[in-house]
Amino acid sequence: MKEILLDAIVCPNCHGKLIFDAEHQQLICPTDRLIYLIKDGIPLLLTEEASPLETETVVKETIIVETVCQTTTDNSHIKCDNTVIIDSQTDKG
Ligand SMILES: [Zn+2]
Repeated sequence: MKEILLDAIVCPNCHGKLIFDAEHQQLICPTDRLIYLIKDGIPLLLTEEASPLETETVVKETIIVETVCQTTTDNSHIKCDNTVIIDSQTDKG
């Protein structure tokens, strides 16, 4: 089992940081104004699967992932206090 931090997930189009929308379970690229859906805990980071971001209000309710995750003192791993960790291997068929 390997966990992927949202902080390490970037937009496949512009390689910028994505914003996690916990309410709608989606990732938002503010640069491209695209919405990437999360299905079964796995983000669909494909531009052809992304939806255009049309409203400004969506971003205001989101959590910027960067503020959530903190590196530990020994810098060996990153700890996240909130549930923004996505398990990349939840799909067991
Ligand atoms: Zn982007």
